[in-house]
Amino acid sequence: MKVRLYPDDQAKAELDRQFGAVRFVYNKALAIISHRYKVHGDSLRASKDIKPLLAVAKRSRKYSWLKDFDSIALQEACRNLDTAFKNFFDKSSPSRYPRFKSRRGQQSSYHCTGTTAYDDESITLPKIGKIPAKIHRDIKGSLKSITVSRSPTGKYYAAILVDTDEVLPEQITDINAHSVRGIDVGLAALVNCDNGIKIDNPRFIQRSTKNLRRKQKSLSRKKKGSSNRAKARLAVAKCHEKVANARNDFQHKLSRRLVDENQAIVVETLKVKNMMKNRRLSKAIADASWHSQIEKLSYKAEQAGKHLVKIDQWFASSKTCSCCGKKVEKLPLNIRSWTCACGAVLDRDTNAAINIRQQGILKLKARGSPFLLMEACVRPTHCRLRPEK
Ligand SMILES: [Zn+2]
Repeated sequence: MKVRLYPDDQAKAELDRQFGAVRFVYNKALAIISHRYKVHGDSLRASKDIKPLLAVAKRSRKYSWLKDFDSIALQEACRNLDTAFKNFFDKSSPSRYPRFKSRRGQQSSYHCTGTTAYDDESITLPKIGKIPAKIHRDIKGSLKSITVSRSPTGKYYAAILVDTDEVLPEQITDINAHSVRGIDVGLAALVNCDNGIKIDNPRFIQRSTKNLRRKQKSLSRKKKGSSNRAKARLAVAKCHEKVANARNDFQHKLSRRLVDENQAIVVETLKVKNMMKNRRLSKAIADASWHSQIEKLSYKAEQAGKHLVKIDQWFASSKTCSCCGKKVEKLPLNIRSWTCACGAVLDRDTNAAINIRQQGILKLKARGSPFLLMEACVRPTHCRLRPEK
């Protein structure tokens, strides 16, 4: 659970120092790893190779100041760097090569149980003490960790992680074919379902994305180090925060709806990295947000005992007739619907979603659980002719 913190000026200064120490360890580890790779070709792991150096560093005169900070938080910086590298090597994740953390960006620091605590109106951190917090609902379970953060707009938060004894429900086994939903991420609409439903990004997000781009341009024109640049930077950060919050909220609602209404959802996992290299910015943003949309779908489906079937990206999904399986050679992006030789009239995006759904059904069957699929219903309803075999 994420709660807002209201530190006084002294606590703010202490938190900022804590963030600085965590950032220092992260950046130092990143510098060492990058250097060792470039010069010696070694692949070091931060938590395995750098973390032990922390104790050594604290004994040295130069870095003894690290002793003033929660050692768990410093170790966690190494683990975070490992995660950043792992995401970079993961092809389905949009992450780039880890970058140095700037004092202006998002800051965070992890503190584990034993040294942390919370009550109705505050959290307690090691070496910093009590910080007032707005705890908006009951926290059930035993405390595992508290991660404090500061947003680029200067707001402080704490993510409180608790261990609940909640048991996940068993996955549904008798799936009704009617409640298997194929989803295609589109350019025209955000989400296309196989049953013809199209869901678009709320207008608010589109509008604020435009606004963000304008503010970014204005920032790039400001002189480095000037107070106007600092102002413009804050304006961009505020805009970013607004867009991110709105998108997050929308994604939660959309995934909630999809999980509630269906038993199984089939999605394509995009090879985001390839796309970000060679396409327009807006598309890159769309792809990156699709990745976080899938993550939300994934855990909501798990909590509800429903299935999220991920299929590898399949470039022919819009070019293949979902009725007869025939593939057209070319299908330019501006063609929104087409007629197949078999007579089926196909909407580009809906057709892709139907194909994705069919791939998902094959995968569900391959998992071997006793599915109660009604075969007759698996074929799309717009099909005019029986499939050729
Ligand atoms: Zn056809």
